[in-house]
Amino acid sequence: MHEHPPIDYEMHDKLYLTSHKLIGKTEILECYHSENERYVVRLDKTLFHPQGGGQPCDKGTLNGHEVLHVTQNRDGQVLHYLPVSLPLGPVEMKIDQMHRLAHARLHTAGHLIGHLLEQTGWQAIKAHHWPGEARLVFRQSNNALPPSLEDLSARCREQIQLAHPISIHIHQGHRQIAIGKLGQYPCGGTHVENTAELNGLTITRIKNKKDELSIHYEILD
Ligand SMILES: [Zn+2]
Repeated sequence: MHEHPPIDYEMHDKLYLTSHKLIGKTEILECYHSENERYVVRLDKTLFHPQGGGQPCDKGTLNGHEVLHVTQNRDGQVLHYLPVSLPLGPVEMKIDQMHRLAHARLHTAGHLIGHLLEQTGWQAIKAHHWPGEARLVFRQSNNALPPSLEDLSARCREQIQLAHPISIHIHQGHRQIAIGKLGQYPCGGTHVENTAELNGLTITRIKNKKDELSIHYEILD
C-alpha cells in the first residue's frame, strides 16, 4: 500500500513498527529550538508513528507535555514537536488511544479494500487515509470491471464478519502487513489487529474515469 525503504535498521528505535503498546519509557537524546516557538525532541526509541504513508501522525504526551506533531526526516529519524523544552534523559511516552485507533481503522480499511479490488484485477496506485477524505485509487488491468457500491460494501462486510487477524511480518528487511490469507502489503503505518475492528466501514462513493477507479470510504461508529 505504501512503499517504504528497507526498515530492518529501524526496528530498534521505531517501536510502533512491531508493537501495539501505547505507553512506554525511553530517553530523550536531543532537544532543540525550532521555528514557531516549538521544540524538537529526538528519542532513543519511540512509540509515536510519524505523519507519512497517507496517514496522520500519532497524538500523545512526553512526561505529560502534549506532542503537537511528529515527522520523519530524510535520515529516517522521528522528530517530535512540543511547545516546551524538555531535559535530556528518561521520559515517559503516552499515545492517545482513541486517536491511534481511529486512524489505524481508516488505514487498515484501506488495506482491506485494496485486497478485495486486487482480487478482481485492479492495481492500487494511491492511498490517502485522512478522516473525512479517505480514498484509494486503482488502475485497471486485465479489463477489470468496476464493482458496484452494493457489491463492494457486501464484500467488505463479509470480511469484517470473518474477523481475520492482521499480522506483521518482517521479510528481508521489509515490513509486510497481512490480513488473514487475503494478501499482504509492504507498509510502515499503524493497523488494528483484527478485521472485526473495522465494523462500520462504509463505502461512500465509487468513481470510474477512463482506466482509474477511486473508492471513497469512511468508518461510522
Ligand atoms: Zn498499512
